[in-house]
Amino acid sequence: MSNVRTDSRDYDVISVGSGHHELIAAAYLAKAGKRVLVLERQDYIGGGCVTKELAPGFRYDEHSTVHQVILSNPLLKADELGLKARFGLEYIYPDPAFASLFDDGSLLVSYRSVEATARSIALFSRPDADAYLRFSDMALRVNPLMEQALFSPAVPLGTLISTLSQSAEGNELLLMSLKSGLDIISEWFEHEKVRMHFVKLMTENLQTPDEKGTGLGALAMVGAVHATGLGLPRGGSGQLTQALARCIAHYGGTILTAQNVTGLLRIGWDSLKETWPGWVLRDLQKWLTNLEPANIIASRSYSPLDLERDSSSFVHGDIHGAAPFFHQMNGHRPTPDLARYTCPAWTSSIWSGHSCIPGPD
Ligand SMILES: Cc1cc2nc3c(=O)[nH]c(=O)nc-3n(C[C@H](O)[C@H](O)[C@H](O)COP(=O)(O)OP(=O)(O)OC[C@H]3O[C@@H](n4cnc5c(N)ncnc54)[C@H](O)[C@@H]3O)c2cc1C
Repeated sequence: MSNVRTDSRDYDVISVGSGHHELIAAAYLAKAGKRVLVLERQDYIGGGCVTKELAPGFRYDEHSTVHQVILSNPLLKADELGLKARFGLEYIYPDPAFASLFDDGSLLVSYRSVEATARSIALFSRPDADAYLRFSDMALRVNPLMEQALFSPAVPLGTLISTLSQSAEGNELLLMSLKSGLDIISEWFEHEKVRMHFVKLMTENLQTPDEKGTGLGALAMVGAVHATGLGLPRGGSGQLTQALARCIAHYGGTILTAQNVTGLLRIGWDSLKETWPGWVLRDLQKWLTNLEPANIIASRSYSPLDLERDSSSFVHGDIHGAAPFFHQMNGHRPTPDLARYTCPAWTSSIWSGHSCIPGPD
C-alpha cells in the first residue's frame, strides 16, 4: 500500500476497491460489527457506479446507469442496510422502461404495462404482439423463481434439474436454459425489429445473445421490466455508492481514496490460487464422476491484481466488472460447497459481487 500502514489488529476486513460490490460487502460487515477499511486507488469512490461532472456543470453516470438485477436483491428489496430509509437512496422507475428507435424513425417501446407493450409491438407485427402476451405471462410467472435463485445459495444442479423436470413448465425452462437468448427470441418473434428490441434488452444484462446458456436471460429481462421496472437512482447511479459510503461511515468503517493497493503481503497468492481450486475439485469429484479439470470452465481463482497482470483492458479498473460471457456470471457462481472452504492465513476473505455468495468465514 502506498501510504497506509495497517496492522492485522487494526481491522477485521480490508476491502480493495470501492466499487458497489466492494462497498456492499464492506457495509454488511461494518453493520455486523466488523472493523472495516476500504482502500480505493482513485480519488473518488464508486468504481463504475459513479456520477461525475464529466463536462463543466453537467453530471453524468460514467458507466452503470440503469439498475435492474440489484433491485430484487434483499439489499434493496428489503432495504436490509437502510440505504433507502436512512442513507438517502431513492429509486425512480421511468415508464416507458426501455425503447428502441430505429433508423427509419419507427419506435418500439417496452412499458411497465404488458398490454401497452403489446400494443407497441403490434405496430410492427400482430402475431408478435400475441406471442408477447404469452411470453411475458411466462416471464412474470418465472420471475419470482429467478429472483430467489439469484439471491439465495445455489441449489445443487441435480436437485434443480429433477425439480424442474417434474412439470411441463419446468421442462420448458430447462430447454430454454440450454439455448441462447437469440434462439429463444427468434423462436418466439418473427419481425426483425421486434427481435432486435429484445436482443438489445437482454444484452443490457451484459450477456452475449448467441452464447448457448443465455436463453433464460431473455425471459428474465422481460419479467424484470414488468415485475420490478428498470430503476435509476435519483441524482444518478453514483447515489447508490454514496449511500453505501454513508452507511459504512455510520457503522464506524473507514474509506480512504487515492490508495493504490499494490500487493497482498501476508500470503503467497500465486501459489495459493493454483492449489486452492485443486482442493475444491478433489472434493467435488467424490460426488460427480465425470468432473475433470478439462470439463469445467471456472477452475481457476483470480484476484483483481491477476486480472490486471494478465489483461491490458483491466488496467486501472477501466473495464468495471463487465463479464461478457455467461459462464463468468451467475451460471458458475460459488456454490455452498465452495463456501465451506477457507484460505489458510487469509481468514477474512470474502468474494464480493452480485454473483458471489460469501463463505461462512
Ligand atoms: C460502459 C459501461 C456501462 C455500464 N452500464 C451499466 C448499467 O447501466 N447498469 C449496470 O447495472 N451495470 C452497468 N455496467 C456494469 C457496472 O458498471 C459494473 O458491473 C460495476 O461497476 C462493477 O462493480 P464492481 O464493484 O465489481 O467493480 P468496479 O466498479 O470496477 O470497482 C472496482 C474498484 O476497485 C478499484 N481498484 C482496482 N484495483 C485497485 C487497487 N489495486 N487498489 C485500490 N483500488 C483498486 C477501482 O479503482 C474501482 O474503483 C456498465 C459497465 C460499463 C463499462
